[in-house]
Amino acid sequence: MSDARPRSEAMAHRLAGLAIEVTSDATINRLARQIAQHKAQLALEQNQFERASQTAKIGIWSCDLADESLNWTDSVYDLFELPRGSELSRDVTLRHYTDQSRQTMEAARAQAIANCSDFTVDAEIITASGARRWMRLTGNVEARDGVAVRIFGMKQDITEEKLLADKTRYLAETDVMTGLANRSQFQTRLGNLAVAPIGGLLLVDLDGFKQINDSFGHALGDQCLREAARRLTACCDQASLLARIGGDEFAVLMGPKQTESEISALGDRIVKAVGQPYEHNGHAIALSASVGVACHRRGTADDLFHDADTALYAAKAAGRNTSRTHKH
Ligand code: GH3
Ligand code: MG
Repeated sequence: MSDARPRSEAMAHRLAGLAIEVTSDATINRLARQIAQHKAQLALEQNQFERASQTAKIGIWSCDLADESLNWTDSVYDLFELPRGSELSRDVTLRHYTDQSRQTMEAARAQAIANCSDFTVDAEIITASGARRWMRLTGNVEARDGVAVRIFGMKQDITEEKLLADKTRYLAETDVMTGLANRSQFQTRLGNLAVAPIGGLLLVDLDGFKQINDSFGHALGDQCLREAARRLTACCDQASLLARIGGDEFAVLMGPKQTESEISALGDRIVKAVGQPYEHNGHAIALSASVGVACHRRGTADDLFHDADTALYAAKAAGRNTSRTHKH
C-alpha cells in the first residue's frame, strides 16, 4: 500500500495533465470556431458595407496628420478612377482637384484642423481618366488633448445631382430662345441693387417688331430676336447682365465702375449695332432698336427702371432708332 500511493499520485497527475490538454484543446477549438465565425461575420458586414457604399457612391477616407498618410475605401478609389488599393499620396491626390476646388477644400480643411471642427465642401475633380466629377466631401477632426491628430470623413460622387441642379438653375434663369438671362434673373439682380451696386440700366426695345412678324411670319420674327441678341452680346461685353425681359425688349445692366458718359455712349453703340439690315433668304429685313438709358445715383430699383423706361419712351417718341438718357 505504501508503494501504491505514489503510483496513483503519478497517475492522477498524468490524468490531470491529460484533462487540461483535452480541455485546452477543446477551448482552443471553440475559440478558433468563434474567431472564424466573427471573421466571417465581419467579412460579410464589410462586403455589405462596400456594396451599399458603392451603390450610394460614398467612400470613406482618413488622413493621419502626423505624416499625412491616407487611407481610402474602394469607393473613393472608384471616384478618382484610381486602381483600388494603390498607393496614395496627398500631393498626388490634390492634383486631381480643380484649382478653385482645391483652394476651397484646403481653406475648409485648415479651418477644421485649427478649430478641431467638421467641414463639408462640394469639390470638382478630374479623375485619372480625365473625366470631370463633383464630390461632396465631409471631414471630421479627431483630436487628442485638444490637438488634431487625424481627419476622416466621406466622399460622395454628386456629379449627376450637381449637373441636374445646374441644368435646373440654367433653365430657371435663362431665356431659352436667345440664351440670354431671362426676366426673372434680371429682376433678382436689379432687386439686389442695395448689396450689389449697379451703375446704370439700358432698356432696348426693337422698333416696329409687330410689323416684322406680320410681314415675314412669327418664325422669322424669332430669328430676328436671336439676331438682335447676338448683336447685343457683341457690343455689351462690359455689361454685368444682358437679359431678354419681354417679347422684343432687352435690358443691359452696367456695373458701378462705368461712368455716366460711358453708359450713355453704350446706348448709342447699341442703336448702331442693332440697326443693321438682317439678311435672310434673300430678304434684307430692316432691324432697329430704341434705347432708354438711366444711370444710378440713388433711389430704388423701381426708380431706376422707371427712369430708363421714361428715357425709352422719349427715344420712341423722337422717331425710334435712337437712344435717350434720363436726366436727373
Ligand atoms: P415699337 O416700335 O413701338 O416698339 O413697336 P413694336 O411693333 O415693336 O411694338 P411692341 O414692342 O409693343 O411689340 C412687340 C411685339 O413683339 C408684340 C408681339 O407680337 C411680338 N412678340 C412678342 N414675343 C414674341 C416672340 O417670342 N416671338 C416673336 N416672333 N414675336 C414676339
Ligand atoms: Mg417693340
